Amino acid sequence: MSSSDRTLLFLLLLLIPTALWAPGYVVMHYPELVSPLLYLPWLTLGATLLLSQVYHQGRLGFLVILTMLLYGLIQWQLQVPLFQPGKRLLFWLMGLGGPLLALTLALLPERVPFSRAALGHWALLLSSVGALVLAVQWPGAVQVLTEFLEPRAFVLTEHSPAPLLMLAWQALVAVACWWLYLRRRESADMAALLVVVGLMLVCIGFARPMISATLLAVVGVALFVVVLEQGHQMAFLDELTGIPGRRALNMALKRVGKRYSLAMMDIDHFKKFNDTYGHDVGDEVLKLVASRLSRVRGGGKVFRYGGEEFTVLFPGKPAKACVAALEAVREDLADYPFVVRAAGKRPEDHKAGRQNRGQGGANKQVQITISLGLAQRGGELGDAEAVIKAADQALYKAKKAGRNCLKLA
Ligand code: GH3
Ligand code: MG
Ligand code: MG
Repeated sequence: MSSSDRTLLFLLLLLIPTALWAPGYVVMHYPELVSPLLYLPWLTLGATLLLSQVYHQGRLGFLVILTMLLYGLIQWQLQVPLFQPGKRLLFWLMGLGGPLLALTLALLPERVPFSRAALGHWALLLSSVGALVLAVQWPGAVQVLTEFLEPRAFVLTEHSPAPLLMLAWQALVAVACWWLYLRRRESADMAALLVVVGLMLVCIGFARPMISATLLAVVGVALFVVVLEQGHQMAFLDELTGIPGRRALNMALKRVGKRYSLAMMDIDHFKKFNDTYGHDVGDEVLKLVASRLSRVRGGGKVFRYGGEEFTVLFPGKPAKACVAALEAVREDLADYPFVVRAAGKRPEDHKAGRQNRGQGGANKQVQITISLGLAQRGGELGDAEAVIKAADQALYKAKKAGRNCLKLA
């Protein structure tokens, strides 16, 4: 489970107790807080909208705007008993259309909300919500839509005004958002899932006072955390391999203390590999190497140093204590049957291409090996720069010694 998976799970779980207890608790114990709390969603959502603009997370920003529009709809149009057909219909349409809009926004191209390029996004959002509000003002439309929806609605229980049809639809859209997130791992999918689940809980508990204010305020906070988490990842994780990058290494070296060892590792003959199979296959190899290196034992933390070079940091350990763990990943990689798919073959130079053509497009198994240089802090190696340099020199010795081996500084 990655750190953003954990964050998402935590945020989703946060919504449930909020839905169950917060509204009743506030009304019972702090009645004087009821009216200020009605402003809270504007505050948390507004702050998140600003932050998303600063971080250029446009889709997330639009999901925040959608949540604000839904909250406005609930506060200004739906604070009345739902036995009025127009209001009941508005509630249904909001419950059905809201999640669909959230999913659509996650799928649209990234546009920062306050920019000219985002006019289409604004038009979609405002016209959809406007159409909802207008449709329920028109008795003919209310009658037709109500007659169409009512027999299909299946009221769930007497405690919730949300019909089964609506909840089933919301659950379906939530699953779609979740699936999108699992496939793409994008913060907008995470945000869409949180908005849909939040709206679903609001609909289930719609009869309870303060449910929309408390839940949507928490959705605002959850989206704020998503923006921050995404910003953190952009700063510290390497985009290609998904493991921590150079900046994360520099931060880790500042915190690591006086006792540590550090290994530099470099893929062997990687240039040749790129030339033979193409840069795309090379990228796949980098991802594979990163993911297998990350399983290193002995408390090692793996970073992509740059290019096809990786660094493993062992806090609190002398070099000798790290050798076994490093040898294990080296052997693991050398034994890994890496299959180059014929379709991925796109040699960069023609000569290599000609050499490949004889292979008839079959998949080919190749061996990937790495060389490593290991150094520990101490003695002459007083700072991180010196340790890295020593590890690099040891790595050079490993290359000289025929590659696929580890040398100590
Ligand atoms: P050696 O065994 O001596 O390390 O040989 P080498 O070919 O691996 O060494 P060299 O440092 O000359 O080549 C590194 C190559 O790594 C150059 C470049 O083509 C490739 N490379 C660096 N970064 C990336 C990347 O992000 N993606 C891909 N596909 N290739 C990369
Ligand atoms: Mg290199
Ligand atoms: Mg290399």
